[in-house]
Amino acid sequence: MKIALVGETVLKTPASAVSVEDINTLDFQSFVHELKQTMLDANGIGIAAPQVFDSRAVMIIASRPNPRYPDAPEMAPLVLINPRIIQHSEDQTKDWEGCLSVPALRGKVKRYNWIEIEYHDICGELISCKFEGFVARIFQHEYDHLIGKTWLDHIESTEDIVAESVLFQSA
Ligand SMILES: [Zn+2]
Repeated sequence: MKIALVGETVLKTPASAVSVEDINTLDFQSFVHELKQTMLDANGIGIAAPQVFDSRAVMIIASRPNPRYPDAPEMAPLVLINPRIIQHSEDQTKDWEGCLSVPALRGKVKRYNWIEIEYHDICGELISCKFEGFVARIFQHEYDHLIGKTWLDHIESTEDIVAESVLFQSA
């Protein structure tokens, strides 16, 4: 699937909810399969449907350890449909993020340390859970895509934007 880059209208458009009856259809299941494949092909650790020009409230998070987050949990890709944030920490942590839709750049943005959320899983079940740390960060990043935002909307200073090549050279 083609990835929408920053500036595309679809990335500024709030996603619409998926009806629970649609979740178990072949059409929807194969869409999610392709979305996951697109994320894996691009070496992403998360992706949201608007990033492939589809305004449905679907996102995938797939944390794995990496040089900046060596303690990040290794997880099988988790599909979240119609996610919503129920509660979040008061505290926020500022750290680097990248995005498949904002190639070659990294930005330092504040995210809640933990969040409690609700979503429909790939079988249509309503699930409640809590994420913290790096997984909470990925969730908030992907959730942004479902409300028409990217990490660029959270930037506090131009000092907080760097080219990936420069960030990794200084790391
Ligand atoms: Zn992104």
